[in-house]
Amino acid sequence: MSEEQFSYPEKVDVQNCDKEPIHIIGKAQAHGVIVAANPQTFQVTQASENTLKFFGISHQDFLGISLEKLIGELPVKRLQTSIFEESGFTAEELKINENSFVMLAHLSGDNLILDFEILGKTWNPTHFQQQLTSIINGLDTTESIPSLCDRAAKLMKDIFDYDRVMVYRFDEEWNGEVVAEEKEEHLESWLDLHYPASDIPSQSRKLFLKHKVRIISDVNYEPVPIASEIFPVTNKPLDLSRSALRGVSPIHIEYLQNMKVGASLTAAIIVNGNLWGLVACHHYSAKFINYYQRETCKFLTQVFSNNISTIQTGIFNKKISENSELRQRIVEELKIEDSLAEGLAKTSVPFTSLIESEGGAVILDNEIKAFGKTPKEAEVLEIRDFLAQKDEVIFHTKNLKNQYPKAEKYKKSASGILSFKLGRAEDNFIIWFRPEVAETVSWGGDPNNKVSYNEEKQRLSPRKSFEKWTEKLDGISHSWQDYDLETAKVFRENLNQFLLAKQKEEISRLNQNLEEANKDLELFSYGISHDLRSPLRGINGFAQILKEDFSRDLPAEASETIDTILKASNRMEGIIDDILSFSKITSGELEKEKFSNKKLLEELLSSFNIRTNFPDTEVVIAENLPETFGDRRMVFQLWSNLVGNALKYSQRAKAPKLEIGSISENNREVFYIKDNGIGIAKNDQDKIFNVFSRVSKNDFKGTGVGLSIVARIIEKHNGKIWIESEPGKGSTFFFYL
Ligand code: ADP
Repeated sequence: MSEEQFSYPEKVDVQNCDKEPIHIIGKAQAHGVIVAANPQTFQVTQASENTLKFFGISHQDFLGISLEKLIGELPVKRLQTSIFEESGFTAEELKINENSFVMLAHLSGDNLILDFEILGKTWNPTHFQQQLTSIINGLDTTESIPSLCDRAAKLMKDIFDYDRVMVYRFDEEWNGEVVAEEKEEHLESWLDLHYPASDIPSQSRKLFLKHKVRIISDVNYEPVPIASEIFPVTNKPLDLSRSALRGVSPIHIEYLQNMKVGASLTAAIIVNGNLWGLVACHHYSAKFINYYQRETCKFLTQVFSNNISTIQTGIFNKKISENSELRQRIVEELKIEDSLAEGLAKTSVPFTSLIESEGGAVILDNEIKAFGKTPKEAEVLEIRDFLAQKDEVIFHTKNLKNQYPKAEKYKKSASGILSFKLGRAEDNFIIWFRPEVAETVSWGGDPNNKVSYNEEKQRLSPRKSFEKWTEKLDGISHSWQDYDLETAKVFRENLNQFLLAKQKEEISRLNQNLEEANKDLELFSYGISHDLRSPLRGINGFAQILKEDFSRDLPAEASETIDTILKASNRMEGIIDDILSFSKITSGELEKEKFSNKKLLEELLSSFNIRTNFPDTEVVIAENLPETFGDRRMVFQLWSNLVGNALKYSQRAKAPKLEIGSISENNREVFYIKDNGIGIAKNDQDKIFNVFSRVSKNDFKGTGVGLSIVARIIEKHNGKIWIESEPGKGSTFFFYL
């Protein structure tokens, strides 16, 4: 809701009171005057319509008046300095028209707002001093929170003398409970009564966070309109959220009237930045306490709030340190060889005792292990599915069936759950269960009857009855505390670390297996190719002898057969050579150095003996080939395969030509070798790097291993290889290392 877009609506009732814009109510309470002025010119722009009563100046004459005329030169100077120095305003005591006022100033948007509040009864400074001392002494921190609340209520009653003083504490759903009370004897007690969250709507709670004390001096007051309602220059209503004299929401007035309350004073208890509760004072007739007394009240609640915070932090720290010992013991006892569930089942302290609960469960990889009092396994799995949909890593509720109706069945064991997600998977959880508490709660009126129809006002009104209304708690467990959540958080980190260590262990075990398997495989292929060589040499040698010594005596068919044997055994030798070098490449470690590709290629080409073997082929090597940092032996093999292929697959071209060079691309030196040979079809371009993969027709000799060796060498150097090729026109292989 944008705060500035609209003025106070005509119709507000309890149905829309959560949206009621109480800060722009456009009304003042009757015990003073609200004045808005221009903070530059100090001319009055708007004011509540009771100026005649308090200042003796008619409202008509009052608008446009200069503040100096009203309050005098010096106070205006002080306002001016405060605005200029942004130092904040101090309360100013003034006498106007024989009335004594306290003037409270603040800036709101483009306006300077001044509350002229009747000064009322004042105390002498010694009395004031005594009060502050009694507050400090009365609220020492050694106590428990309930007794601290009792003391605060008593102090408030003693100092301000309202008929009833209550300390009202919010629960996690913003329902309130009266946890301490001091009252006139004849009044019935409201101690322990609960009130639904709707009694104090969220925007009131927000205002309490900002402006900690609020007084309604006369519930039955006649609200004083502020005129004009809209500021003529900006066309916006006045934002009165910080005005002490701001008029009261009619719904809230009706609520107090229904309670027969005549005046109220409310102070916010703010603990660690959150609204913890309220000190609510009720009087059964009109009652006003002035600004200074309200400051004392602010001081009291501040000391009270600080002490609550100290006690809560003490409890938190104690719980956390007790837990941390247990937690460490559990974590130390977990064994890496056990699964997490097995491990948690064996620890001398059960993990369920880390957080007050009656049972727990570990759900990991679809396996479930339950501890203590829990729903049935199938039901725990249902809860797991419910939890898996939640975004929160740590989830808690004291009323599971409210969010997950199926939980009605097992509310005896699992009315409350606290869970966290384990590891990265979405469906691994640790859960703690809390049973339903067999307690009753007394409400101040039936919380389900929030509304009644008010004939006279023609609208839905706040409930009328505040008669004690007792309800048995259904499906509700004890609340999870901040230290429970903190324990869950650190325990989760511990277990995630354990799972990570387990995973690492598993990976290193697999790696070791893999390494062993690889070694075996290398040995095997090395052994095979090595062992095959000598019988092959035998075959080849004897076939050679047959051919040389006996071919004249043999029929032509037998001679041809011998030739076939020789060809096949030569081919097989080629395959064995290639496999041998492939297995060497796969197993070898890199020995990197800087070397010249130019020299390497010269060496390589001379070994190919191009002039004799490929007399028609022209080979062009670019002049300034860059150097390479890599394993020279491997890179030699790489070039050897690429050059060998280029020579082989282009030898039947009309004028075979090879070009070797390099280009710079994205700060990298990319080498290329281009031929004008048979080329490679698009579909085949991916396959050719696989072992034994050959795509050209059989009329070229080869084993299909060369390019797989090339690919391995590139991979070992973290490089990349790719092809541009067109069948019939030639191929270019690009690579970088
Ligand atoms: P091979 O021993 O068969 O040459 P390679 O692994 O070196 O084995 O090459 C695999 C296949 O890729 C070859 O059989 C051939 O079909 C194709 N090939 C490789 N280089 C070229 C090239 N420069 N031009 C055309 N085809 C090529």
